[in-house]
Amino acid sequence: MNDQISFNSLNINNQEIDRVWHLTDLHLHTNLSDGLISPKELIAQIKIRQLPKLFSIADHNTLLAYKFIKNQLLGIKNCLLHRGVEIDCSCGIDILVYQRPEDVNGEQFMKSVSKILRIESKKRLKAAKEYLEGFKKVLSDASIPSWFNWNSWDDKKKLKFFRTFTLDNLLKFDLYNLSFSLPSRDYVSKPHIIRYLFSVNFFNFTLFAKQFDLSSSDRKTIKRKIKRFFFTLFPWPYDSQPINKNLIKELRKTNNILILAHPGKSAKTYLGKTKITPQELSTFITQMVKNYDLDGVECLYRSYRNPEFDYNQVSYRTLKEISIGDQKDYFATAGSDSHKGIKKT
Ligand SMILES: [Zn+2]
Repeated sequence: MNDQISFNSLNINNQEIDRVWHLTDLHLHTNLSDGLISPKELIAQIKIRQLPKLFSIADHNTLLAYKFIKNQLLGIKNCLLHRGVEIDCSCGIDILVYQRPEDVNGEQFMKSVSKILRIESKKRLKAAKEYLEGFKKVLSDASIPSWFNWNSWDDKKKLKFFRTFTLDNLLKFDLYNLSFSLPSRDYVSKPHIIRYLFSVNFFNFTLFAKQFDLSSSDRKTIKRKIKRFFFTLFPWPYDSQPINKNLIKELRKTNNILILAHPGKSAKTYLGKTKITPQELSTFITQMVKNYDLDGVECLYRSYRNPEFDYNQVSYRTLKEISIGDQKDYFATAGSDSHKGIKKT
């Protein structure tokens, strides 16, 4: 059987789409955004497994990974890299942007997307810096939560924390070995903040559990609750903003492929609901595709957690209906959103 597939095989009207999906993962992350493994390690895994046949490193808001794998790619013969990126457009909306198959070597993609990301990163890093400063300011006040270990730290330890908890350091923070050892990224987000705080033992688990009646819960549950509660107290600037229409419009002006990422997950955040109906998901997808002139939808997302119905099935059906209505081809992509590399199976 011929396993050679390209992005064009992901046409929603391809009869063999199930087989193509099976061999595809266009949504992989590395430690140059918030993943645990390096781009080089990821490529090495793909080389050994000879899977996926079609793949993309779609890190959050950065193309940095592509800088580090240039030479390594020469050794991959049977697996096709398709350049991509996952861009945060606020309000739970992520747009996966990919090179057009005819854009050989992705030159046009790299150039046009870099330009937009440069401006976007500048804004985001400024907001992150202000966030850290705001947080440190709160720590100087007397009224901080009792479940911060901060209250029991001596001045020396506090001073060290102030000096270390900086944007420059967080941009180098390795989520795997919890040290500032990576080449400086241009992306920082909530995982870097919270995992750094956990790594310096910032929170008092016992006091938190006592205060919130979690004494019988396991450490993992408490950790998850601390995380959620922390970002309620100190909201990450990009979580509370309305959808960034201008950013999507700017992306649309480039000649790249725009895909709505994990629609089931995004619909919930966008609509502000913990549960949605198939009809709501379908309407959401249709509106997004039509309003922003998107090229397709991530119709096989492998990381939905406890969905109340089959989000992928509804996504595929909806895109198919749009395609028939518009008499136009769309792309139905597949991705794992793995932050830990390629799964063994
Ligand atoms: Zn992702």
